[in-house]
Amino acid sequence: MHQQYDVLIMGGGLSGLTLAIQLKRKVTRLRILIAEKAVHPAPEAAHKVGESSVEIASHYFENILGLKPQLDNELPKLGLRFFYTLGDNLDISKRIELGPNDFPTAKSYQLDRGRFENALAEQCLQLGIDFQDNCKVKDITLGKNKHQVTLVHNDQERSVQTNWLVDATGRMSLLKRKLKLAKPAYHDINASWFRINHDINIDNWSETPDWQGRVKAPRRLSTNHLLGKGYWVWLIPLSSGATSIGIVADAKIHPYAEINTFERAKVWLKKYEPQCAQIIDQHLDKFQDFLTLKHYSHNCKKMYSADGWAITGDAGVFLDPFYSPGSDFIALNNGFISDLIIKQYRGEDIDARTEQYEKLFRTLFLAFCPVYEDQYPIMANAKVMSIKIIWDYTLYWSGAALLFFRDKFCDLAFMDIAVTSLQ
Ligand SMILES: Cc1cc2nc3c(=O)[nH]c(=O)nc-3n(C[C@H](O)[C@H](O)[C@H](O)COP(=O)(O)OP(=O)(O)OC[C@H]3O[C@@H](n4cnc5c(N)ncnc54)[C@H](O)[C@@H]3O)c2cc1C
Repeated sequence: MHQQYDVLIMGGGLSGLTLAIQLKRKVTRLRILIAEKAVHPAPEAAHKVGESSVEIASHYFENILGLKPQLDNELPKLGLRFFYTLGDNLDISKRIELGPNDFPTAKSYQLDRGRFENALAEQCLQLGIDFQDNCKVKDITLGKNKHQVTLVHNDQERSVQTNWLVDATGRMSLLKRKLKLAKPAYHDINASWFRINHDINIDNWSETPDWQGRVKAPRRLSTNHLLGKGYWVWLIPLSSGATSIGIVADAKIHPYAEINTFERAKVWLKKYEPQCAQIIDQHLDKFQDFLTLKHYSHNCKKMYSADGWAITGDAGVFLDPFYSPGSDFIALNNGFISDLIIKQYRGEDIDARTEQYEKLFRTLFLAFCPVYEDQYPIMANAKVMSIKIIWDYTLYWSGAALLFFRDKFCDLAFMDIAVTSLQ
């Protein structure tokens, strides 16, 4: 007899763990299994990329999932901060800076992904979710609201049955591959990143009193962006004491071969961001990891099915990390998925709703594409880029964020009017 679940979530990363918590908080009776390939606890700092959260995601974590205690172990974020390229980029105080001078009213966080995912997994267990680590999904047979999944758990193979199957396997994208749902994304940017087990504190990069006095809160708590033509470099502090540093670059201006190993990334940094490179050089003994990803944007033909499957997180779509929207997309997507699962569990017909969520999610994804596509060449232009950033913030707060904070995305009558009025 196969073990039976209402929902099986493949992958216990950020998207899978948060979806499980959202579902269980709404319907405690749901039998949920999370199958996570990796062994827990996950390592701190050098676990995964995606540490900077923005306001939709933070609202989701704190107010919808009730994760305030877990967030209190992470760092509060001082918004996004941008330093434009100037001359040789050796003096941060001379660069044009755009960023808040105190903590914004709407909160956001810098997440140590290892620490946060460990805390989420513990929360899942406390809520009665069956979280199994060292548990790899080996095979899937899809049916209509009756799927069979073969797992390899602690080296033992077994099969389970589930009414709903959610793919949260990140870039492994199990369902997307099986159902041939991959769709290329036009946006073509590469990234490399590494972690140093030291607080690379941008507040100490200049002793100029004017520069020191201009911002009330520590700049190091921002997601700091060092911008130049065709690239940006991120600096993100982590609660475990480490710093995450990444290079994100348009290959038409900065070929991938210049950043795809740690040695090359260091040479590249010395050339374009020498002040940053000099400071990193002093802490190379605390180097933790280096990873790289070519053409990270990807799309998906279909995210939800009324036959009881759905795709969330990186397993579905990803556009660009410039404004750190990865976890915002997780929040939006998990909202749609949990609503479909719960409505069907309560006996409602979800056929039309599934189609509408699909259309809505696609509209959102398409609406965000022009925010990033072909924009990297203008990143060195402080005037143009600052106007663009303020414009993008305005769109964020008057569109997606407003609707999310007001809990409107699953109100289809309202969304119909909202989307029609935009067309
Ligand atoms: C360069 C870059 C920078 C980014 N920066 C940010 C940022 O600052 N902020 C932000 O919000 N987002 C950012 N993102 C996006 C962010 O990384 C993703 O949105 C997020 O990590 C997706 O989480 P996930 O849970 O979907 O996938 P993952 O975190 O990858 O989790 C997938 C899980 O599935 C498991 N798994 C895989 N295969 C199997 C299997 N067969 N069986 C069982 N388990 C399996 C894996 O072990 C893993 O734990 C960035 C992305 C990139 C490329």
